[in-house]
Amino acid sequence: MADHDRIASAVAAAWSQNRDVTGGANADYIPALATVDPDLFGISVVTVTGDTINAGDANTEFAIESISKVFTMARAMDEIGSDAFHSQVGTDPTGLPFNSVMALALHGDKPMSALVNAGAMSSVSLIPADSTEDRWAKILAVQSAFAGRTIALSETINQSEQTTNAHNRGIAWLLKAAGYLYDDPVGVCDVYTRQCSTLITTADLATMGATLANDGVNPLTGARAVHGENVPHILAEMTMEGLYEASGDWAYTVGLPGKSGVGGGLMAVVPGRLAIAAFSPPLDSHGNSVRAQLAITQIAATLGLSLYRKPHEADGQNAGRESSIRLATAGRQK
Ligand code: GLU
Repeated sequence: MADHDRIASAVAAAWSQNRDVTGGANADYIPALATVDPDLFGISVVTVTGDTINAGDANTEFAIESISKVFTMARAMDEIGSDAFHSQVGTDPTGLPFNSVMALALHGDKPMSALVNAGAMSSVSLIPADSTEDRWAKILAVQSAFAGRTIALSETINQSEQTTNAHNRGIAWLLKAAGYLYDDPVGVCDVYTRQCSTLITTADLATMGATLANDGVNPLTGARAVHGENVPHILAEMTMEGLYEASGDWAYTVGLPGKSGVGGGLMAVVPGRLAIAAFSPPLDSHGNSVRAQLAITQIAATLGLSLYRKPHEADGQNAGRESSIRLATAGRQK
């Protein structure tokens, strides 16, 4: 079967076999996320040649949330270099929830990872800018470059987050006190909150992932979104921290760098080949979408995509492995 047909068949099967899965709950600590239709379920794959395959609600917009951290990390690393980024933010897993203050206390208030809230705010503050609006414009620009279309803020999500983000504001001030926030905490937390409140589809998200798979060049537009030498650092960080405290289980089971968000989105990247994105709002207790994890696990297994095995060796032989993913049970309601 041609590559396109094999991928399309795996995507269609993952959608139809997981659409009726129940379990998990919408994030509700951000009030606007609690009201999103929990039945929504979309899957997209974009290859490095720009082939796009969609299933279900692939063109429905949802809040990018934590997945935005990947693109801010990319921009900050491009601006200051990977060595400076390494020392000023850190690049190790915390092993603790994405908004953990204990994780900071355990590491001398160093964020450790750009993919937790503390490190994401540090990353925001490292993007050189003359003003909050200038920094926000740069972050919107990098999200848009990765997606290949103009990404915009949801006023509703942003308003909901800005009025309930006291915990993140506290983290910003702790970072400032420790010397790991490199600008004004109020403006940085504002921009961080906005970057989480933009709207994307799974078709966008798969394109964003495919841009990473394609060494930083968007396969649909042909434009570079991030320096190629920074891509391996970003994918390594996604492997270590991309699915919160379940990142290790994900690497063990699926074998692909991934990043999730509490809006229900999840992307996984196969360097040199493609990216898979899925979206469905109900989350497990770690904050990862239940259906999205199942769908991507199934597609990766069916197509033999794990980075830790010889490429293509087991194509088509792993269709039963999807059930082995271990999902944390309850919904995220912090
Ligand atoms: N805006 C969310 C927060 O800061 C993002 C969390 C996430 O998706 O992990 O809590």
